[in-house]
Parts: sequence; C-alpha cells; structure tokens
Amino acid sequence: MPMSQGFKERLFPIVEQLAEHYGTPFHVYDEAGIRENGEKLKKAFSAITGFREYYAVKALPNPRILQLMKEMGFGFDCSSIPELKMSRELGGQGEDIMFTSNNTDPVEFQLAAAEGGCVLNLDDISLIDKVPEFPELICFRYNPGPRRTGNVIIGNPVEAKYGVTHEQVVEAYRKARQRGAKRFGLHTMVASNELDYSYMVETARMVLEITALVEQELGIRFEFVNIGGGFGIPYQPEQAPLDIDSMSREIIAQFDAFRQQHGYVPRMYMESGRYMTGPHGCLVTRAINHKDTYRKYVGVDACMSALMRPALYDAYHHIDVIGKPEQGPTEVYDVVGSLCENNDKFAVQRELPEIAEGDLLVLHDTGAHGHAMGFQYNGRLRPKELLLRVDGSVELIRREENMDDYFATLQFEEDSFTPGAS
Ligand SMILES: *Cc1c(COP(=O)(O)O)cnc(C)c1O
Repeated sequence: MPMSQGFKERLFPIVEQLAEHYGTPFHVYDEAGIRENGEKLKKAFSAITGFREYYAVKALPNPRILQLMKEMGFGFDCSSIPELKMSRELGGQGEDIMFTSNNTDPVEFQLAAAEGGCVLNLDDISLIDKVPEFPELICFRYNPGPRRTGNVIIGNPVEAKYGVTHEQVVEAYRKARQRGAKRFGLHTMVASNELDYSYMVETARMVLEITALVEQELGIRFEFVNIGGGFGIPYQPEQAPLDIDSMSREIIAQFDAFRQQHGYVPRMYMESGRYMTGPHGCLVTRAINHKDTYRKYVGVDACMSALMRPALYDAYHHIDVIGKPEQGPTEVYDVVGSLCENNDKFAVQRELPEIAEGDLLVLHDTGAHGHAMGFQYNGRLRPKELLLRVDGSVELIRREENMDDYFATLQFEEDSFTPGAS
C-alpha cells in the first residue's frame, strides 16, 4: 500500500489550508512517518552490534530531513561534493559519512579528505593510485558480475558501471594495504527498489563471504560490510511492503553463523534512501484545466520538473483526489503537466474520481528521488518543499524556484576567449 493511513490522516484534513497558505504545487514530507520508520529499522537490526544506516542523501537532499536522520543516529551516504558539504554542515564528520562516488575526479578525493575526512568507498582498483593522501580506513564497492542477477531495476551487474570485479577484489585490498590502509570495509549495491527481502539476505551473505575470502588471502579483518540501498517500497496499491522483520531475522542469523565460524563478525551498514523517505512524502498539485480530445486530460499545476519518475521510468504514483469519495463516479484520464514533452504525464489512462477544476490531487510516494531529480527544462521551475512536523506545525524547508534562479547562471556581459591568439 502506498502512503500510510497515518500520513493521510495527518495531511488530508489540512491540505486545502496548506494549498491556500503556500500556493500549489508543493511536496510535503511527514516527520512522524520518517521517524517511526527509522526507529523500526533500528530496532529490527539492533541484534547486530554497530548496525548503522547511512541515509542516501541524493534521495532527498534537504538539511531538515538530514537533521532527522542525524537525530536517529544515522550517517550520510554521499556521492558528490555538494552532498558531502550538506552533510558536513549538519555536523556529519569522519566516519559519519560514506563517500560512494564513481568516475571520480581526483580533486574530489582531495575535498573529501579535507575538513575531518570521511569514509572513502572506492569504485575501482585504478583509483587507488589517484587518491592523494591514502586514508587508514578504506572501503571498496564490489560488483559480483555474473554471480548475481535478478533485480529488475538495477539490471544485470555485468552491465553495471559500478564497482570492482570478483577477480579484482583481493588485489584491490592488497594494493590499498601497500598504500598504507590499516582498516577495511566492503560495500556493494546490487538492487534498486527491491521488494523481495530474500534478495537483501542474499546480498548480506555475499558480502560476508567476500570478506572471508579476502581475509583468507591477505589476513585482513573487516570492520564493516555495507549492503547498500535499494530497499523497495510499494508504489502500487496491491503491492506488499518489504518484509523488514523477516529480512532482519535472516540477516542476523547469517551474522551469528559468521561469528561462530570466524570468532568475530564485521559491523553491518546500509545506505537506504527510498525506503527511509519515499512513502513519507507526496506532491500536492491543483487541477487547472480539462481537455477533451482523443483522450480526456486533466492538466495540473505541477509538471515533470517536480517529479521525473513517471516520465523517466514509466513509474506508477498513486493519486488521491481530495474530497472525492472512493465510491463516487469515475473517469479515465491522462493527468498532465505543462511541459512541451508528451511524456510529461503523471498518469496515463488512469481511472480516477471525476475531477473538477480546482480539485487538489495528491501524488503518493514522492519523498525520495522526487524533487531531487527535477530539472528546469522549458523554464518550468521546481516547486517548494514543506515538512509536516510531529507537533502539527508545517515548515517551509525549500522555497520554489523563481525567475532569478532561472537566469542566475547566464552570462549577460560579454566574456569571450579566442583560441590561437597569443
Ligand atoms: C542511489 C544510491 C543509494 C540509495 O538507493 P535507494 O534505492 O534510494 O535505496 C545508496 N547507495 C548508493 C551508492 C546509491 O547510488
């Protein structure tokens, strides 16, 4: 089931007031839901000593959201310097931050090492020589290649650009040790939006097995394994949520077995994004036009600049129409934005309650990879973000973009360079 009953009960009675006060469209996030979910995750894995979630900042890069993650004891997973900077502004330092970049510019390694550093998670063996000051603690991203398949969204690991291969993994740690590394972690990320918990159990088994292999070859003991993100959420009403309790029970059993066999066990990290915030956000937009041509269209005041997933991935986002009874009359619509792109559609041939101009539509599950993915194409700017606090107040946590933002990077005074002139 998308968007929780609790979030609906908190939001729907006040949503018209919010629309009047702030104007539409906006994303709104649910502090209570984010906290409840985060605490549930911690509890599920509390039997694993040193368990930690590193929130994938790219899912919802907003300081207020990162603050919630920090208050729950979570770290931050970053893959760019601006994400790193935002995490540091929040007080994240050193081992609170995993830097999981790929195709990295050596300048980024320099910046990552500054200001108290962070945990470097290297994507390739060739990068070992490009890290200016090699850290004592190092992690590699492992790509199992043909050893793992099955996740439909991230695809076949052989075709993925990420990580060191199975054949390279021992050599990677050997070289890292030669450069002075003394502490070690192992990371992988082989899934995206996976709802089958057993896939994650298999991932945990896989990384533990690789640490044992490297230990056998090099005598290295791993401090942690990181099973990555990719935990799924149900976007469709008939989908069941990820069974986090069965998942943690089976992963804990793997860790117990490893400890019995080896006399120690690494800590376990994960870096979930979507699972942490996805269902706890929605996009509120108003119907502003109707069009009756070859199809029936409802035009809303948001467009794909606010939510790219339907256009990019043909993704389903459930839609509620505020104030319209479930059992009332329905109509089949395409729900569209205003971009000059025919894939600017939030829903295609969807049966919805009859929509009148002025109705508020709530698009579910925009709390991760929603606002963050938006763009400015066609001069259609990104909307504001609100946070519904536990005490019932609502906070503006990002304003909407305006014309000044759109023009900010343009060069109005001449700035030219003529190659070849000495
Ligand atoms: C995107 C990403 C994540 C988060 O993925 P979700 O599907 O949101 O859980 C975690 N780790 C890395 C390295 C990523 O690139």
